[in-house]
Amino acid sequence: MHEHSLVRSLLTQVQQIALLNGSNEVTDIEVEVGPLSGIESSLVESAFTTLRMGTCAETSKLTVRHVPLIVACQDCGTETELECFRFRCSECQSGSVKVIQGEIFRLLTVTLAESKPSEPTMADAVTSATTEEKRSGS
Ligand SMILES: [Zn+2]
Repeated sequence: MHEHSLVRSLLTQVQQIALLNGSNEVTDIEVEVGPLSGIESSLVESAFTTLRMGTCAETSKLTVRHVPLIVACQDCGTETELECFRFRCSECQSGSVKVIQGEIFRLLTVTLAESKPSEPTMADAVTSATTEEKRSGS
């Protein structure tokens, strides 16, 4: 399933962000989905519920934001927000338009839990796990 791999890489990204900020708990994640991305937000949500287990995002809340489809007219330059997939300029009615927004799936924001006093044991465990993974991989 397409959404599964997207959510998996999303969680990898989120975990890296949390790690870089010295946090081990994510409270909120916000993603943007464009109408042309072909992504079902309900599938993203169900994949997220399954895949977040065991990650720092296990108790976090996922918000899927739908961004509008925007095209730019190749003739007059006007940007039009399309509502019904009618690929036409709102200004000059030209059919020569280029999609400038709508094909995306990306991470928008990550909210980390209030950072607790540093836990060196936790950080050490993560570091050694990463090293071991690299060693077995090569
Ligand atoms: Zn135009």
